[in-house]
Amino acid sequence: MVSTRFIREKMNNTILLKCRNCGTKNRVQLDKLPSMPLCGKCSAKLVVPDRPVEILSEQDMAAEVLEETIPTAVDFWAPWCGPCRMMGPLLDEIAGIYAGRVKISKVNSDENPTLAARYSIQGIPTLILFRDGKEIDRLIGAAPRDRVLKFLRLM
Ligand SMILES: [Zn+2]
Repeated sequence: MVSTRFIREKMNNTILLKCRNCGTKNRVQLDKLPSMPLCGKCSAKLVVPDRPVEILSEQDMAAEVLEETIPTAVDFWAPWCGPCRMMGPLLDEIAGIYAGRVKISKVNSDENPTLAARYSIQGIPTLILFRDGKEIDRLIGAAPRDRVLKFLRLM
């Protein structure tokens, strides 16, 4: 069932970004993100996810969600699902506006039934929020913008 528990957290103005080149975790100030920070170890550009990332396999789920250093929401959806199509543009927008504070991933549950089963998806859309590789909350069904932002701990 939906957990409406809202965990109020300290405002934190830094995030950890894992370097895609060498794997080093870099602590970066949120207000420095627009200047494209570089990895402190290898000087590669640190990638800040600012649009939804498609999860196509177990390997993607591990790399993009379970090992991600910033909170990551996974949207289980399908193309035929009307409420999913309502949530899609909202999640695209949130991914851009809140880049660095949350990452959005998408799982097409028709094409990835194994992942949908693993996370006991009963209906779509279902949004699951992961932090440090663990599920901390899930939101079932389409929801208005404010409710989604609260669920994502963004307001
Ligand atoms: Zn690096």
